[in-house]
Amino acid sequence: MTDAPEILPIPVRVRPEIAALPPYKQGKQASADAFKLSSNENPFDPLPGVLDAVNAASALNRYPDATAARLRERIAERYGVTSDEVHIGAGSVSILAQLVLATSGPGDEVVFAWRSFEAYPWLAVLAGATPVMVPLAPGARHDLAAMADAVTGRTRAIIVCTPNNPTGPIVTQAEFDAFIAKVPADILVILDEAYAEFVTDVDAVGGERILSRGAHPNVVVLRTFSKAFGLAGLRVGYAVGHARILDAARSTAIPLSVTAHAEVAALASLDAESELLERVEVIAERRDRLVAALRDLGWAIPDAQGNFVWFPAADETLAVAERFEQAGLIVRPFAGDGIRVSVGEEASVEKVLGIAASVVRTLPEGHVARRLA
Ligand SMILES: *Cc1c(COP(=O)(O)O)cnc(C)c1O
Repeated sequence: MTDAPEILPIPVRVRPEIAALPPYKQGKQASADAFKLSSNENPFDPLPGVLDAVNAASALNRYPDATAARLRERIAERYGVTSDEVHIGAGSVSILAQLVLATSGPGDEVVFAWRSFEAYPWLAVLAGATPVMVPLAPGARHDLAAMADAVTGRTRAIIVCTPNNPTGPIVTQAEFDAFIAKVPADILVILDEAYAEFVTDVDAVGGERILSRGAHPNVVVLRTFSKAFGLAGLRVGYAVGHARILDAARSTAIPLSVTAHAEVAALASLDAESELLERVEVIAERRDRLVAALRDLGWAIPDAQGNFVWFPAADETLAVAERFEQAGLIVRPFAGDGIRVSVGEEASVEKVLGIAASVVRTLPEGHVARRLA
C-alpha cells in the first residue's frame, strides 16, 4: 500500500457536498497474467453473433436513435408492457442517477441498505439529497423491516438491491411483499436486479412478478446487460415501470448517451439469450462450488446469489486483499468491512481457494470471518 497522495484545493467554487467527495481513484491495472475479479464482469468472450451485430452498426457519423426504440419494443414484449414503460440507459447506473435526480433534491432522503452498491450514496449526494443508510441484518442481508421504519416524510426514493452487491444475499418475495405494503405509495421504490440472471434461489423476489401484478406502480425494476449478458464495456441497461415515472427519468437524462452499438448488441444478445444463459448457469454452478469450498475451509461466507462472493474480513480486509493481489488476483476490498471477489474464469477459482485456505488459518480465533466450528 502506498501513502495517499496530497489532495490539492479546487481553484473554483464547487458545491461543498461535491468538494467533500473523495477524488476519483484509478483502479488497479491487472497485469497480463492476473485474474481481474474486482468488477463482477462476465469472464466469457462476447458471442460472435453479438460482435457481428456491433460491427455491422458502422454509421459512426450518425447520432443514435435517441429513444432506443427497437430495444425498448423488444423488452416491452418480454415484460408484457408498452414501450413507454421501458427506459434504456447507458448502463443501469445512469438510470439510477436519473431516477434519484428526478425524485430527490435538497432536504429529501434516499433510503438504501448498507453496505450495498457503492454508487448509491454518491448518487444521492449528487442530487443534493441525503443518503439514509440502513445497516444490513445478520447474514449480510437487507433488513427490510428497518428500511421501512427509516421512511420519513422526507423520503423520496428507496433502493433495494437483490442480490445485494457486494455481499451476495437476495431479498425474498415474502420479505419484499411485507415491505412494499408498509411503504407509502407515493415513494419510488427501485428494485435493482443487476444480477437477477444468476439467482437460483426460488424464494427470491422477482421484478417481473411484481410488475405483472400491477399492484405497485411506485416500483421500478432495473436490469442491465453488463453482467450476465457480458456487455459491460458497451454500457446498456434498462428500467421497467410506470411510464410517467420513466418520463421523469428521461427528462433528466443526458441525450443520446445510449449508442447505436450498445443498442444492437443488446438486441443481438436477446436473440442469443439461451446461449448466454447457459454461460450464466456455468458461472452460478462455479459460484456454488466456490462458496461450499470456502465454507469447508472455515470462512463465514454469506449466501451468494450473484456472480461474486463476499469475504467478511472486517479489520483484516486490506491485509487479506493484499494476499490475493500478490497471487495475481485483483479483488475489490472495502476497508474495514470485507472483500468482494467475482466468480471469473475456472482457473481463477482454484487460485482463490488456495489463497483463502492459507489466509483463514492466520485469522485470529473468533474472528467474524471464521465460521464457528
Ligand atoms: C453493476 C451494477 C449495476 C449496473 O451496472 P451498469 O453497468 O451501469 O448497467 C447496477 N446495480 C448494481 C448493484 C450493480 O452491481
